[in-house]
Amino acid sequence: MEIFNALNHLKKENLPHSIMLISEDEHNLSEASSYFAKMVMCDSPIVDNTCLNCKKIDHFNHADVMIYPKDKQSISVEEMIILTQDVYLSPYEANSKVYILNNFSNTSALSQNKLLKTLEEPPKNVYFVLNVTNESKVLPTILSRCQKIYLPKYSSKDIENFLKDKDFSTQQKNDIVAFCYGAINRAKEFSENPNFFDTLDFCFDLWKNLRVSTKVLPYASNLYNLKNNFKLFLFLYNAILEDVLNTKLNMIDLVKNQQRIDEYKIIARDFSEKALLLIAKELTKINEKLERNCNQNIVVDNFLLYVLEVRAKWQ
Ligand SMILES: [Zn+2]
Repeated sequence: MEIFNALNHLKKENLPHSIMLISEDEHNLSEASSYFAKMVMCDSPIVDNTCLNCKKIDHFNHADVMIYPKDKQSISVEEMIILTQDVYLSPYEANSKVYILNNFSNTSALSQNKLLKTLEEPPKNVYFVLNVTNESKVLPTILSRCQKIYLPKYSSKDIENFLKDKDFSTQQKNDIVAFCYGAINRAKEFSENPNFFDTLDFCFDLWKNLRVSTKVLPYASNLYNLKNNFKLFLFLYNAILEDVLNTKLNMIDLVKNQQRIDEYKIIARDFSEKALLLIAKELTKINEKLERNCNQNIVVDNFLLYVLEVRAKWQ
């Protein structure tokens, strides 16, 4: 798999003591960090997935591969202090120790700071893997002490494989593959959400049929009812927008969901490039408003009216 190729240039005899894996996909990060642990621990020169060390890593029960945070969302200051003391203890069963630090971009600056000294001079045979979804939230001092590795996204084939045994139609599988943008955790989220396809249908309906202000109210009340799926709605509505924009600009290769191209062409006839760009900008603002806990229903009303307005104004 491609994500392992991102690590395979590292030499077993000369592995970096601190690496930072960067990807927006937590599933991707989890697989790659386990693979790095195997590179350290495996009995064979090339990861074989069959030795006892590899098997234990696969089952998350290797005594010398420590995964943090233990039970919280991110590593607290207290936990980081314990960790930095733990690194000096000898390994239990292997010759080395690997610390996998999940969700590192959500670790507070205070907590990240506690790790600095250890990263600077790690004990021999101790390796750190920092799993990062958002590089901008990591202290520059930490960044500069790690070898950064950007993980490639999963290919459509990988995602199709993941969906293979799921009970979806071909069209439904295509939609998940296209809109998960190469992130398996997103494909998983979509496939486990019983409202995913309804929300997607609703997005297409909205793009195609919101033409007059009398329709704002019924669409708005549908949106109020989405509740927990409102973020999903925004994500999908924006994904469709990107595809429509690329269709409009004749950059068909960039259209993610090729099966929907006829629908995109219909929508693209109704919106000018300028209108689409303005709507895209407004969508970013909505995400910010929601983070500031603005009233969701007011945000919805204003947004639908805005879509109508820019569509009419920039024909
Ligand atoms: Zn092995």
